[in-house]
Amino acid sequence: MTYKAEYIWIDGTEPSARLRSKTRILADGAGLPIWGFDGSSTNQAPGKASDCVLKPVFSCPDPIRGGDNVLVLCEVLLTDMTPHVTNTRAQLTSVAERYADQDSWFGIEQEYTFFKDGRPLGFPAGGFPAPQGFYYCGVGADEVFGREIVEAHLDACVEAGLAISGINAEVMPGQWEFQIGPAGPLAVSDHMWVARWLLYRIAEDFGVSATLDPKPVKGDWNGAGAHTNFSTQAMRSGYDPIITACEALGTKVDEHIAGYGAEIENRLTGMHETAPWSEFSYGVSDRGASVRIPWQVEVDKQGYIEDRRPNANCDPYVVTRLIVGTCCEALEKAGQV
Ligand code: ADP
Ligand code: MN
Ligand code: MN
Ligand code: MN
Repeated sequence: MTYKAEYIWIDGTEPSARLRSKTRILADGAGLPIWGFDGSSTNQAPGKASDCVLKPVFSCPDPIRGGDNVLVLCEVLLTDMTPHVTNTRAQLTSVAERYADQDSWFGIEQEYTFFKDGRPLGFPAGGFPAPQGFYYCGVGADEVFGREIVEAHLDACVEAGLAISGINAEVMPGQWEFQIGPAGPLAVSDHMWVARWLLYRIAEDFGVSATLDPKPVKGDWNGAGAHTNFSTQAMRSGYDPIITACEALGTKVDEHIAGYGAEIENRLTGMHETAPWSEFSYGVSDRGASVRIPWQVEVDKQGYIEDRRPNANCDPYVVTRLIVGTCCEALEKAGQV
């Protein structure tokens, strides 16, 4: 007998990479071999030397095909087996290893928007729905659009064994969120990319497209973010490290903003529960700050922080690399590890 392996990888599309996948039939009991693809069709190689290599790095049961079939997330390599320049996972690996002793955890809140017929699901043809106010965590056919897709996606993520921790309807009609984590930087990012692939794949069966566009509707409508919750062992056991991490993020604003997703300036305007991208701030319970310290964390004097800046279209390998690099370095320097 044989099984089907869906090889998934991240392409070279600018400015936001996209997911690609193709299927390989493997003999029962056979492991997952490296494979190749045409990099000239994914903005990853010139036509004259088009071969790129797929190296399996994470696999899980395939909840779409069921049975013994699997999803296989891959890193992209050059034919000399070195990481391709678009391989942000390889860049994260070295930083994660450098600070592995601090035991970083991440929980990422992935917001996204369903589109059908060129407009968000729930938007009437040629117009706008009632203003925002009742859609967030809403219930009922006048407030909620696409729940059957969201439920199918949640079931698929659970069946695949991903570290999904919840879902909710968002502030704009057709806008939703799922959360992955808490998990280490590599695991949360691997699971996020597979969860994104499952979202696109399942919505496809409903004739709907899911988008990570950070500002899908201009004007007085919320954008879509990827709030990134972060802690280290020290932050989970004391408050001084929480403050050290917040202060450290304030010293590297430009570098972080540049890695938090394309068109971030259009989303972090200072309106719609955001802080302006150019002005760093942090505060307890403050959803208008760049970084929020949850109220319970201040009460407990330990826990985690929420970086509210990453865009929905961010690359979690880049976001977690930046946060681990900045915060763990500062905690180490402060002797708070
Ligand atoms: P919000 O109130 O901002 O909407 P959510 O409940 O959507 O928050 O998401 C919070 C995320 O933070 C979840 O994915 C959760 O697993 C994660 N989380 C909880 N505790 C920690 C921690 N100590 N370190 C990192 N992430 C955490
Ligand atoms: Mn949330
Ligand atoms: Mn949200
Ligand atoms: Mn949040």
